[in-house]
Amino acid sequence: MASPKHIIIVGAGPGGLCAGMLLSHRGFKVTIFDKNQDVGGRNRAIRLNGFTFDTGPTFLLMKGVLDEMFELCGRRSEDYLEFVNLNPMYRLVYDDRELSVSSDHDTMQAELQRVFAENGDGYERFLNNERERFSYLYPCITRDYSSLSAFLSLDLFRALPWLAFPKSVFHNLGQYFDQEKMRLAFSFQSKYLGMSPWECPALFTMLPYLEHDYGIYHIMGGLNRIAAAMAQVVTESGGTIHTGTAVDSLIIEAGGVQGVKLQNGEIVRGDEVIVNADFAYAMTNLVEPGVLRKYANDKLEKRDYSCSTFMLYLGLDKVYDLPHHTIVFAKDYQTNIRNIFNNKTLTEDFSFYVQNASVTDASLAPPGKSALYVLVPMPNNDSGLDWQAHCQSVRGQVLDTLGARLGLKDIRAHIECEKIITPQTWETDEHVYKGATFSLSHKFSQMLYWRPHNRFEELDNCYLVGGGTHPGSGLPTIYESARISANLIAKKHQVAFKDIKQSAWLKKTKA
Ligand SMILES: Cc1cc2nc3c(=O)[nH]c(=O)nc-3n(C[C@H](O)[C@H](O)[C@H](O)COP(=O)(O)OP(=O)(O)OC[C@H]3O[C@@H](n4cnc5c(N)ncnc54)[C@H](O)[C@@H]3O)c2cc1C
Repeated sequence: MASPKHIIIVGAGPGGLCAGMLLSHRGFKVTIFDKNQDVGGRNRAIRLNGFTFDTGPTFLLMKGVLDEMFELCGRRSEDYLEFVNLNPMYRLVYDDRELSVSSDHDTMQAELQRVFAENGDGYERFLNNERERFSYLYPCITRDYSSLSAFLSLDLFRALPWLAFPKSVFHNLGQYFDQEKMRLAFSFQSKYLGMSPWECPALFTMLPYLEHDYGIYHIMGGLNRIAAAMAQVVTESGGTIHTGTAVDSLIIEAGGVQGVKLQNGEIVRGDEVIVNADFAYAMTNLVEPGVLRKYANDKLEKRDYSCSTFMLYLGLDKVYDLPHHTIVFAKDYQTNIRNIFNNKTLTEDFSFYVQNASVTDASLAPPGKSALYVLVPMPNNDSGLDWQAHCQSVRGQVLDTLGARLGLKDIRAHIECEKIITPQTWETDEHVYKGATFSLSHKFSQMLYWRPHNRFEELDNCYLVGGGTHPGSGLPTIYESARISANLIAKKHQVAFKDIKQSAWLKKTKA
C-alpha cells in the first residue's frame, strides 16, 4: 500500500484543526504547526488566575455544521462537548428600552409587541422569507469556487434572485420592520463580520435569521473547548500538532508550495500545504515579495478589511446579575458606525458586547466569582491610532460605560485580574493583518468567487482555510472552508471519503 500523502497545516485555529481532523480521519498524514503554546487561535482559551475566557468566539451558531464535521470523522460532537442552548439568546440595551431576544417564536413575537408595540406580521414574514432565502444560499456557501466553471453552477443561478444585490442588511429588513430600532435588533449581527449593517450585503440577513430559527449555543468550559475537541480528534486519528512552533515561510519551488521552513530553521516537506494563518498576514509574511501577483503586498493593502475590536477580559470577585450575552447600542448608533468604518477614530459613545458566561457555566471562575468578557468594535489599524498611548484611557472609558449603561458602577473595586487586547496587539501578537479581526470584509466584490479560493489560485499544492477565504468569517463558515479544502485534497489524491449531501439539520421551507 502506498504511504499516505503528507498534509502540512500552518495554524491550529478552527479552520486548520477542522481540516486536520477531516484529513487525518481519511488516512492522510497530517502535521499542524502553530506559533502559540495552545491550539485554537482566536478560538483558544485565555486562562488567568483560575478564570477562563474565550479569546474570540462566544456565540455558536449553526450547531448542525459542527455536528456534521464530527459525524464526517465517525464521531458525535456530544461525546466531546457539552452544549447549552441559550434562551433567551441575548439582551439588547438601547438608550430608552431593552429587548430580550428569544429563539422561541411566540415568546419573541410577544416581546416585540411589548417593547415596540409591534403586532404586525413582520416577524413571521422575516422568518418565512429568510428561511427560504437561506435554503437557496446555503448550497452556494458550501461549494468550491476554485474555478469559474465551478462558480457558474445551477445552485448559483437558483440563488441569484435571493442575493438581493445591491441592498444592505439594514435596507433588506425594511420589508419586515418599519421602526429603526427594531431593524437594529435584526441587523447588528453584521458586526459578527466586522461590518456596518448599512454596508453588509443583504444576503447576510441569514445571520439574524439563523439565530432566530436555530438558536445559539454556549459550550461548557467555553467555545475554546471546540478547538480542544478537534485537536483531540486529530491526534486520535494519527495526526500530529506542534504548538509553540512558528512557520517562517512557505517553501515555493516551480510555482508550487513544497513545504514550510520553521522559525527554528527546520525544513518540513509535504505533498500539500494548507494555510490557516490569517490570509493577508500569511501572504505578506510567509511568502517572499515578488512571488504573488493578484495578492501581492500592494494589492492586499488596497483591499477592504473588517473593523477591529478592543477586548477587556475581567476576572471579578463577584457575579453580576447580567444575562449570558448583552449587546449595548451606542446612543447615536450611526455616528458610532461612521467613526469605526469611515472616520476611523475613537468615540466616547460606543456600542459594546458583554459576555457574563459565569451565570451559565460555573467552571469559568472560582466559586462566587465571574469571568466577564467585553468586546468594543474599533477601527482597524488603517486608523493609525497609537494603541499604546490610548489603551489605558479606552479601558477607563469602557469601565465607566459599564457603570453608566449596565449599572456596574462598582466594577473597578471587584477586578482581581485582567487582560486587554487592542487592535494593535491583534496585529502584532495574533498575526491578524491590520488587526482586522474578521479578515477581508464581506462586501460583494470580496465574496464567493471573488474571495481568495480554497484551492489557492496563485500557488500549486496550496489550500486556504479560515475566515479570510471562501465562505468567510464565523465558526460554521470556517468549518465549511475546511470541508471544501479537505474534499479538494481527497479528490486530487483519489482518496474515497464520506460527505453529507442533504444536511439533516436544515429546516424545511414551505415550498
Ligand atoms: C473577538 C472575536 C469574537 C468573535 N466571535 C465569534 C463568535 O461569537 N462566533 C463565531 O462564529 N465567530 C466569531 N469570531 C470569528 C471567528 O470565528 C474567529 O476569529 C476564528 O477563530 C477564526 O478562525 P481561523 O481559523 O480563521 O483563524 P485563527 O483563529 O486566527 O487561527 C489561525 C492560527 O494560525 C496561527 N498562526 C499565525 N501565524 C502563524 C505562523 N507564522 N506559524 C504558525 N502558526 C501561525 C495562529 O497562532 C492561529 O492559531 C470572532 C472573532 C473575534 C476576533
